[in-house]
Amino acid sequence: MTLLITGGTVVGPSGTYPADVLVEGEKIAALFAPGGGPDGVETIDATGRYVIPGGIDAHTHMELPFGGTNASDTFDTGTRAAAFGGTTTIIDFAVQRTGEVVQDGLAAWHAKAEGNCHVDYAFHMILGGVDDDSLKAMDQLVADEGISSFKLFMAYPGVFYSDDGQILRAMQKARDNGAMIMMHAENGIAIDVLVQQALARGETDPIHHGLTRPQALEAEATHRAIRLAEVAQDCPLYIVHLSASQALEQVAAARDAGRNVFAETCPQYLYLTLEDQLGAPGFEGAKWVCSTPLRSGREHHHRDLWKGLRSNDLAIVSTDHCPFCFKDQKELGLGDFSKIPNGIGGVEHRVDLVYQGVVDGKLSLERWVETISTTPARMFGLYPRKGVIAPGSDADIVLYDPAGRTRISVETHHMNMDHSAYEGYEIAGKVDTVISRGTVVVADGAYHGRRGHGRYLPRSLSSYLV
Ligand SMILES: [Zn+2]
Ligand SMILES: [Zn+2]
Repeated sequence: MTLLITGGTVVGPSGTYPADVLVEGEKIAALFAPGGGPDGVETIDATGRYVIPGGIDAHTHMELPFGGTNASDTFDTGTRAAAFGGTTTIIDFAVQRTGEVVQDGLAAWHAKAEGNCHVDYAFHMILGGVDDDSLKAMDQLVADEGISSFKLFMAYPGVFYSDDGQILRAMQKARDNGAMIMMHAENGIAIDVLVQQALARGETDPIHHGLTRPQALEAEATHRAIRLAEVAQDCPLYIVHLSASQALEQVAAARDAGRNVFAETCPQYLYLTLEDQLGAPGFEGAKWVCSTPLRSGREHHHRDLWKGLRSNDLAIVSTDHCPFCFKDQKELGLGDFSKIPNGIGGVEHRVDLVYQGVVDGKLSLERWVETISTTPARMFGLYPRKGVIAPGSDADIVLYDPAGRTRISVETHHMNMDHSAYEGYEIAGKVDTVISRGTVVVADGAYHGRRGHGRYLPRSLSSYLV
């Protein structure tokens, strides 16, 4: 099928300019000066709209078994919701549980996703146990499976936790094979002490989830990860879901020193707070229990994180989409905050929530596209197939209407959740049309895609390694 997108304004990291975009089959075939495209082909009128590369959410957890339950979005429901929100690629985390063979964990994730995704997908690999076998598996995954990034945890002792020696070994392996180490940087050993002390004092409400995970323990772990990566001869390191000013300072210092250190943040850390959401009356705050936790609005985290996005100390906005319903799932932690499943769902709202930062004067248009699409593609080995409006790239295209409005609500969202973390938020912009590999999947507020359209994307190494 040939499709000409006319009258729109293309936005990419290098600029914003009027152009018509020709799509042939699944690829972008050419860009033309306005009116310069071929006649007699099907057209989409994009007048008044931004034409941007489809969003890439580099951090999701569809149907993750966690906290005694499963994340409530399947690959089917979650990728459909992603499409509605202008995200046409997700990178989910396949999981090796402690004691499990890495390749078996990966196979289990392929089985969940294959044939079920509405948009394209790739995997990072969570290493739940670093030993000789899993280190060897890292090489195999990079060479044969298109998986070039591995997540380790300095938190969750007894579940996913790796000690410093295990982290160092995985980093040395990554230094050798070019993979990226992704780090959940919180000092889980110290956090567990604070959690036990709080529970012993009878402090069981959701806000204590945040109070027992102080930013000092995120900053400390971030610092330690950076120094361990230095010992591993500058292994590439990517700090996930960075939430706190003091952790950002550590990343900024490493980057100023020229180190291979990168970081992402998530919309929840740009908009929500410990007091207003996690501290909501009664058990309500359970909706916003996630790790790293929401930070205090009395400090300057929001301001600092937006600044980090501008300065590129924060390279990417991902969602860490890990939805749990309030009823029966979040409620597992009634009377004990430490039993509340950790996670917030947001895969549908990331493109909008970061765009609101453009409206509010916190980011440029170009930086918006860079943080939600182009940089994730480059960071995780998908560029230039994804992340750019250019000839030869996949025709993953979003038409974004700056004159539209989006009201976020559980009543209208498409994620499989019984509440919204952003209930009532108004965005001064709207995802208008979404194209995935040349197929229109969302138009006029209606869904035209199908389960099974999404394909697995083997990835190469990051474009950003020194
Ligand atoms: Zn994490
Ligand atoms: Zn996560």
